[in-house]
Amino acid sequence: MIPSVLPTYSRAPLSFVKGEGSWLIEADGRRFLDLGAGIAVNALGHAHPALVEALTRQAQALWHVSNLYQIPQQQALADKLVDASFADTVFFTNSGTESCELAVKMARKYWYENGQPERVNIITFEGSFHGRSSAGIAAAGSEKMTKGFGPLLPGFIHLPFGDHEALKAAMDETVAAVLVEPVQGEGGIRPLPDACLKGMRDLCDETGALLILDEVQCGMGRTGKLFAHEWAGIEPDIMMVAKGIGGGFPLGAVLANERAASGMTAGSHGSTYGGNPLACAVGGAVMDIVATPEFLAEVNRKAALMRQKLEGLVAAHPDVFEAVRGAGLMLGLKCKAANTAVVGAAYDAELLVVPAADNVVRLLPPLTITDEEISEALARLETAACAVEAETAGAD
Ligand SMILES: *Cc1c(COP(=O)(O)O)cnc(C)c1O
Repeated sequence: MIPSVLPTYSRAPLSFVKGEGSWLIEADGRRFLDLGAGIAVNALGHAHPALVEALTRQAQALWHVSNLYQIPQQQALADKLVDASFADTVFFTNSGTESCELAVKMARKYWYENGQPERVNIITFEGSFHGRSSAGIAAAGSEKMTKGFGPLLPGFIHLPFGDHEALKAAMDETVAAVLVEPVQGEGGIRPLPDACLKGMRDLCDETGALLILDEVQCGMGRTGKLFAHEWAGIEPDIMMVAKGIGGGFPLGAVLANERAASGMTAGSHGSTYGGNPLACAVGGAVMDIVATPEFLAEVNRKAALMRQKLEGLVAAHPDVFEAVRGAGLMLGLKCKAANTAVVGAAYDAELLVVPAADNVVRLLPPLTITDEEISEALARLETAACAVEAETAGAD
């Protein structure tokens, strides 16, 4: 008989009743150190006092009003995002997937309104992830996500990740936009080199194509800049965010410059919940904390500390791990052993980590993780690595 929850996830037998900072607690009191953070969602950890305060204060005043009316919390958050980024304008969504939908629509509408309605193609890259809607799976194009869901939304061209020559050859007059994650998340924590991102920007400038960045996972301070593309010194035309921006409250956004957004006139897009007062009150509180030089400096300091310790772990367990990769506190351990074995052993050590493609274990701690918690996480990873080694030895 089919379970009452549609079984699209193979879930671990873990269930939490409470969260405190970097910790998740089971009913029996077992405390897990959380290096998954809801897959880069709980950027400020669990139950951060400023977010609890923002949410409860708004909950007592007003939960929801339609976008038919002015929403001051939404306006305030849009102003903060515009002030802190390349963007001139923002549309709020409830998820990364919805942000992908609008980014694709916005790019196509731009060319439609500018006399080139045949410019509909979006170039995307192997290993990418852009959400689970029909546009999102067509954009990523991997068989794992698209199989059985055809006919797929047309107009996506898939290229190898980081291949400048292939991109150059594909940039013809049918291309509306290039869509890329500056750091692939689901694809296995694969950072796009700064030179590649610059090269993409140049090719877009030469052909007029719009550059869309998917910063749903790598944005909002995760890499040590507010947005990951800042490391490369370039600006996108359109950017998708979600995950960390709500700190655990469902919230996403599409940021755009004036040119890219110019086709999106009244009536061309909408959302019932997108940008509602509760979500935007929380998002505003997240921005107030994350978008400060002091906070981002701390992310960078802790990222360097964690990376150095992880390099030591990899060197000490060459049969389990191959390399550390990533940017900031978006880190991946490329494994030699099965990544699922490492994730399971970490669970046994009361440590939460997340598998990704390419046999990688993802470490996406709350950006507020402390130095002591980083040391504790490494001790638990050490325990997990030893357990995986013992298992492997036992199997020989
Ligand atoms: C998670 C993710 C998405 C999809 O976001 P949802 O909120 O799950 O819809 C899209 N792009 C990237 C890069 C992601 O990591």
